[in-house]
Amino acid sequence: MEKKMEKKKIYVLACGGTIAGKAASADDLTGYAAGQTSIGELLAAVPQLADYADVEGEQFCNIDSSDMSEDLWQALSQRVQEVADRDDVDGIVITHGTDTMEETAYFLHLTVHTVKPIVLTGSMRPATAISADGPLNLLEAVQAASFPDLGQYGAVIVMNSTIHSARFVEKTDTTHADTFKGRQLGCLGWMQDGRPYIYQKPLRKHTWSSALSSPKVLPPVAVVYAYVGLRAADVCALAEGKAGLIIAGLGHGKMPAPVWQALQPLMEKGLVVVRAARALGGIVTQVPAYEGTVTADNLTPQKAKILLQLALAATQDKKKIQAIFDNY
Ligand code: ASP
Repeated sequence: MEKKMEKKKIYVLACGGTIAGKAASADDLTGYAAGQTSIGELLAAVPQLADYADVEGEQFCNIDSSDMSEDLWQALSQRVQEVADRDDVDGIVITHGTDTMEETAYFLHLTVHTVKPIVLTGSMRPATAISADGPLNLLEAVQAASFPDLGQYGAVIVMNSTIHSARFVEKTDTTHADTFKGRQLGCLGWMQDGRPYIYQKPLRKHTWSSALSSPKVLPPVAVVYAYVGLRAADVCALAEGKAGLIIAGLGHGKMPAPVWQALQPLMEKGLVVVRAARALGGIVTQVPAYEGTVTADNLTPQKAKILLQLALAATQDKKKIQAIFDNY
């Protein structure tokens, strides 16, 4: 395969996950501990990286991504911004657990302002497994980050030779390597022969075109999943002390009537309610029956939560918040 002419400088921020996971045996694909391997070991396991880029990096944290927190997001966003602002860095790779990778990717997609590539990767099989997927994912993430044009698409996830926009990607399988999908709109492209092939680009605002930033404290927002038997009292208890509430609603963002009634006084006191959907695709739009709510477009509930937190940090005006949902 043809190697790249000019090597780029790629900065890797290692956050843990299964790519840094170790199990007692090579055939153990689930009973492993994530976040065990250091960045030094991760990079040393893929000597081919040096053929494509000058790679430098740091251990940002070393956790199972179930333990990712909003505080860590804010620190990571700040750190990625600092690194992106360096003249001697061309692209950034973040190794991360897959369980919350799509959320971290979307947070960075909205809050880091740069035209340089930001690529997240990880693995579904621990480093100790037969056919571990981490080394190739890391190599392809570094190769992808070495292509400056990739920066125009915002933060991306590169795994299983597929390039996904942070806006649309979802983890769809608990354990299989082919877990990340853009279920609604597909992927941006693929990695092949050491370079990205891109076929479409996201039109919503992100990175260089985003006016949103990570505030010192993220406004508290909760997500409630709607189902038959959802109790209004449980929803009110969850909404207590929150600035916003995302409803992973039924169908076109609906909820049982008693829940909607119970939300009225809370909305009058300032709670911003965003209607998303628990359905696997489609857009939630305004309807007269749910006047006063904001609609989540086609964002998944967990991404709508992030966008609402960043929107609430900028404004309390529901029209402006809706405009943010319509444009990001
Ligand atoms: N539990 C792991 C994590 O999210 C899973 C993975 O990385 O694939 O850190």
